[in-house]
Amino acid sequence: MSDSDRPVILRNGLVLTLDDAHTVLPNADVLIIDGRIAEVGPGLTAPEGAVEIDATGGIVMPGMVDTHRHMWQTAMRGYGADWTLTQYFVWYYLESGKLFRPEDIYAGNLLGAIEAIDSGVTTTVDWSHGLQTTDHADAAVDALEAVPGRFVLAYGNIQQGPWEWSTSDAFHDFYRRRIDGGKLAGFQLAFDIPGDPAFQEKAAFEVARDLGVSVTTHAGVWGVTTDDGIRLMYENGFMTPGTVYVHAASLSSDSYHRIAATGGSVSVSTESEQSAGQGYPPTWQLRKHDVPVSLSMDTSVWWSGDLFSAMRTTLSADRVREHQEAHGKKETVTHHQLRAEQVVDWATRGGAKALGMDSSIGALTPGRQGDVVLLKNDASPAMFPVLNPYGHVVFQAQRGDVHTVVVGGRVVKRDGKLVDADLAAARAKVAATVDYLRETMGEEAWQRGMNPEIPEARILHNPYQYTK
Ligand SMILES: [Zn+2]
Repeated sequence: MSDSDRPVILRNGLVLTLDDAHTVLPNADVLIIDGRIAEVGPGLTAPEGAVEIDATGGIVMPGMVDTHRHMWQTAMRGYGADWTLTQYFVWYYLESGKLFRPEDIYAGNLLGAIEAIDSGVTTTVDWSHGLQTTDHADAAVDALEAVPGRFVLAYGNIQQGPWEWSTSDAFHDFYRRRIDGGKLAGFQLAFDIPGDPAFQEKAAFEVARDLGVSVTTHAGVWGVTTDDGIRLMYENGFMTPGTVYVHAASLSSDSYHRIAATGGSVSVSTESEQSAGQGYPPTWQLRKHDVPVSLSMDTSVWWSGDLFSAMRTTLSADRVREHQEAHGKKETVTHHQLRAEQVVDWATRGGAKALGMDSSIGALTPGRQGDVVLLKNDASPAMFPVLNPYGHVVFQAQRGDVHTVVVGGRVVKRDGKLVDADLAAARAKVAATVDYLRETMGEEAWQRGMNPEIPEARILHNPYQYTK
């Protein structure tokens, strides 16, 4: 029996099942057999040869789900920390995105995929819109298949109209070769609808419908994708269940109603919306319109690929909005609407539902896939005491506290260290990509891209003068 086939039992943890009742079990075990959750409860008997993991003092939760991440951009980690969305568009869409070769897509995806499992994100949607050719797409899939996480490829190409690439022979050949019956957890078409009345995107929606796959689209992005795009989708019958609307941060009430009524969901990337400028992180709107929510990190060119920061900023942004609105009316919020528990649900169950995978991932119940995360760090003063477990996950824990990660019954991280992941190879490939891009762009363009101009700031006249 190889290690990855052995049963796994996590012993004596505080278990957040994220089942329908959000059952929380203190001092409980989670048993995984043949890759699936077999039993959850106290004092379980494990089969002989099971991998035993001591979860005492830790929090056991379902693997997290990121529904929107441009993994190819991980090779440029942190480069755009000071960007706005405009600068991102100039760099990737207009100036430098075309420079990325298949091996650069591979490098970013490989590092991004390893980063995902390391931080407890067991399912990630690779919103892969740098697929200029199907050689790039093959490279993207090669990297995802090299890492033992669950990955959904959302196929896109910002260098062409979606009606062009999605109808090409090369794309359909790729789909038959790599996706249909392949190893990935899922497949989506990824493209945006800026609202041109000609609605050429119709052809791409028809391809998605013919293949029986969902569409994921950046919607409600300030000044880019507006209510017009939503209306065109609706009028043409393409707002279907399973459609994922990313950001949806600056839409009208009417658009939110349409999303809710047609069975779609919104992938909220709070850190992205806050820095890049798509609009205010929309959970305060989505809650009012009863739109299902999942969370995402968008891109490591600004932020890191773990969902702890997504949970934290999403809860905070929602509350800021609530307080600010109340203050505008000279009122005080005495009780928060949004709770930490709901945000943990969005990071797990919400993602599973958004991807149509709710029967297989997102919760710790018998029969579901054995995708499990243990948060435990005896060396951290912030991991004790654990009194309010959901609050602890959102506001206290961080990626360094991810002790063990199991994907489909395979232990991919243990005692805080990745198992079998070739991080050295990923580093070498990313380093080569960085060298190539820097050399090709030239040092001046490289520096200019990373350090955008700062607009002149006006300091207000201060009527209070200091006297010494
Ligand atoms: Zn995005």
